Amino acid sequence: RKIVKVCCGTGCLANGSGVLFEKLLEKSKIKGDFAVDILVKSTGCNGLCEKGPLIKIEPDGITYCKVKLSDIDEIYEKTILKGEAIERLLFSDSSGKKTKSHKDTEFYKRQVKLALRNIGEIDPTCIEDYIERDGYKAIYKALFEMTPEDIIKEVEKSKIRGRGGAGFLTYRKWMGAKKVDSFPKYVVCNGDEGDPGAFMDRSVMEGDPHSIIEGMIICARYLDSHKGYIYIRDEYGLAIKNMKAAIEDAKNHGYLGKNILGSGFDFDIEIVRGGGAFVCGESTALMSSIEGKVGEPRAKYIHSNEKGLWGQPTVLNNVETWANIPLIILKGGEWFAGYGTENSKGTKVFSLVGKVKNTGLVEVPMGTTLRELIFDIGGGIIGNKKFKAVQTGGPSGGCIPEGLLDLKVDFDTLTEAGSMMGSGGMIVMDERTCMVDVARYYIKFLSEESCGKCAPCREGIKRMLEILTDICEGRGKEGDIELLEEICSMVESAALCGLGKTAPNPVMTTLKYFKDEYIEHIENKR
Ligand code: SF4
Repeated sequence: RKIVKVCCGTGCLANGSGVLFEKLLEKSKIKGDFAVDILVKSTGCNGLCEKGPLIKIEPDGITYCKVKLSDIDEIYEKTILKGEAIERLLFSDSSGKKTKSHKDTEFYKRQVKLALRNIGEIDPTCIEDYIERDGYKAIYKALFEMTPEDIIKEVEKSKIRGRGGAGFLTYRKWMGAKKVDSFPKYVVCNGDEGDPGAFMDRSVMEGDPHSIIEGMIICARYLDSHKGYIYIRDEYGLAIKNMKAAIEDAKNHGYLGKNILGSGFDFDIEIVRGGGAFVCGESTALMSSIEGKVGEPRAKYIHSNEKGLWGQPTVLNNVETWANIPLIILKGGEWFAGYGTENSKGTKVFSLVGKVKNTGLVEVPMGTTLRELIFDIGGGIIGNKKFKAVQTGGPSGGCIPEGLLDLKVDFDTLTEAGSMMGSGGMIVMDERTCMVDVARYYIKFLSEESCGKCAPCREGIKRMLEILTDICEGRGKEGDIELLEEICSMVESAALCGLGKTAPNPVMTTLKYFKDEYIEHIENKR
């Protein structure tokens, strides 16, 4: 039997993979002299989106890239029916070396796929595909072989930290909600990915929705929660569609809803479409939005795991964290902790974009250096220009210079460098980039996304934007740098929520590592 996997993640769909899938499906139904049993599947994102549309043919292990509609007849006749590879369509990353399978390229060879284990391999709308790859096995374990204490012990052993940005130890968050003697309790997934250039969570929701559902059910079983919400960015149409379909499928197969697998345990999940504001990714704003109120952050005198949705204990984790939980239960916390660094265990998914040759989604063990990510996996800088900086952690992250390329990427090292892990956005910049302009771009984004509830963020970011604009447009003056530093320190210490507290990062890191560019702008009035 031939299995033809057509990548139908948003990136490949934008490149026209939808029509390729339809054409292959149509051809697979034609029976002729050479008729073989052909199964055509649409899968989620394979990672190297710029090479799309991607088609994989198994068991031959052949991957084709940049496939056009006019190539389909030849692929069908030569590869699907006769097993012959078509040289010109074979996959290559930026090295240009053609390989039979995408897995043999430097881009893929160095990756370790845990959270992304199924994406690109399964049809996300087919629950049987997920089950075939050990999907929902962790649910059996959690419901019939483990006590709630066993579950939390495994999560504790894994030392997994939340992948949404702040990096709290997941087991501590769960335990905090467990110890509060108040019901109902809620389990929430944050899929409101809003960082420019980031698409990690979107790809998981589109390509492996059941892994998120399974992770949430395991937490619900530990907490004795019966209701969950998945809050998805409103622009993520395919993610919403696939998550909805997966919830329905899971219910129809007894993995979700009333009396899960005959265990007597009930848990249901509802999808909430995001409010369309970046700040709704902040935990308390997200919860307000689910409650039907304006998505504004509130002061966290009491953590939301103790008093969250409707004032009740609530565990909120992001998409990638949930996708890792079934693996931790199935393979054990120690196995998971075998990857990564002392204080940051497991792997991390990054969206590697900007002026790098291989752009796309990558998953590597924590502790992989920036150099390995950008030059070995990413293939280096486009046009062989000089590397200048990499921006990590989304708009509130920071810019890391060439001198720190050997930094091992984990939660703590990035924070020490003045940036942060965030949810995993990574934007590479080359020698032509003006770092003051980069700071201005992010501050402009944040000024538009600040909810305006507290003065330090509302007024401070606006003032920073005015000064940065003046500097970029040749109106900078003596004292601007000192004033920027003063405002940064005020906003960082006095803003109400994480958006405001971290908003100065782009300015502070560019001032720390690229101050000469600010001075040059001011002195030369350019
Ligand atoms: Fe709103 Fe900014 Fe204050 Fe957060 S820090 S509450 S985003 S104004």
